[in-house]
Order: sequence, then structure tokens, then C-alpha cells
Amino acid sequence: MAECSHLDQIEFLELPDTIEGCKDCLAVGGTWVHLRMCHTCGEIRCCDSSPGRHATKHAAAAGHPLLRSAEPGEVWSWCTIDEIGFTLRAG
Ligand SMILES: [Zn+2]
Ligand SMILES: [Zn+2]
Ligand SMILES: [Zn+2]
Repeated sequence: MAECSHLDQIEFLELPDTIEGCKDCLAVGGTWVHLRMCHTCGEIRCCDSSPGRHATKHAAAAGHPLLRSAEPGEVWSWCTIDEIGFTLRAG
């Protein structure tokens, strides 16, 4: 089974207390479907089902491959390079 080799890039594990929405969509007045958090910088962007696909674009542009779901009750993470999903548990 494939493993993600980018776990050392995780700086943020838990979601922020307040999530306003996709940072890039908010900047241009866009809309999104679901939200994802970058594990490396902790910023919130939209999923691949959203028109902007900003989370994946950020992952490629910033070199931050690891995303996690920012949807209520969802704890799964995804590596955009290895294309594998997994769940990380805090502490
Ligand atoms: Zn990986
Ligand atoms: Zn967006
Ligand atoms: Zn990032």
C-alpha cells in the first residue's frame, strides 16, 4: 500500500476556530462547494468540485501537497502528490 512521504510538511492539524470560506473565492466574490484546509499553512480554500478549485491550485503553486477536509464532522486528509487519502489524529 502506498504511503505519503510528505507528512513532515504538516504544521496545522486542526481546523481554525472560525472559517469564513475560501480565501481566494472571497477575494473575487466567487462561490464554492466544499472547503479544504492546507496542512502546511492552515489556510482555507475550496475543493475540486468548486468552480475555483483553489485548494488544489494552492497545493501545486505553493508546494503544500497536503489538504484536509474543512467540512463539519469530516477529518480526512488527502495528499495531492501521492493521491492517497488518510486520517490524522491529533496528539
Ligand atoms: Zn504525499
Ligand atoms: Zn475558492
Ligand atoms: Zn498552504
